[in-house]
Amino acid sequence: MLTGPGTANIFAAWRGEKWMSVLLGHVLVLNQNYEPLSVCSVRRAVVMMYLGKAEMIERFDGKVIRSVYRSYPVPSVVRLGLYIHLPRKRVLLSRKNIVKRDNHRCQYCGRTVAPMTVDHVIPKKLGGRDIWENLVCACLDCNNKKGDRTPDRARMMLLHHPRRPDHLMYIQRFAGVNDSRWRRYLFLD
Ligand SMILES: [Zn+2]
Repeated sequence: MLTGPGTANIFAAWRGEKWMSVLLGHVLVLNQNYEPLSVCSVRRAVVMMYLGKAEMIERFDGKVIRSVYRSYPVPSVVRLGLYIHLPRKRVLLSRKNIVKRDNHRCQYCGRTVAPMTVDHVIPKKLGGRDIWENLVCACLDCNNKKGDRTPDRARMMLLHHPRRPDHLMYIQRFAGVNDSRWRRYLFLD
């Protein structure tokens, strides 16, 4: 949490009010070059704006937060004034996260409703490893059909080449998209 002179006061008036739910809402944080960086609470974004560290790029509806001395628009997207380098988020390699990365879509037939499994593109028996680049979400039917064969051998083409989630994908898939105003900044439109 960022703190600074007087920042405690801007929230004092809202404590225990219905505003708590607004303050805990989510804001997309863009780097100075508009690259998506992270997701933070409205509370944190307002503090960054108050301290002059961020500017509001998109506003959340017409909502306004009022304190004793002034009112603040509720941000939906903010942009940092200075470019910062952040350590990249590492997403844990797990069955659940592979399915999430692939949007619960079978990477062979494209179905999204079937029960999903995780398939080794290059089968373990053929030396395939447990890495992001060798694991895809596959429906049970496709996984059974493919068996211990490579996609070429099974004549089953992959919809996408699997890759490790990068920072953008992290926000899109793992932090989630909470507001339609974020879509253009996350390159989803
Ligand atoms: Zn399938």
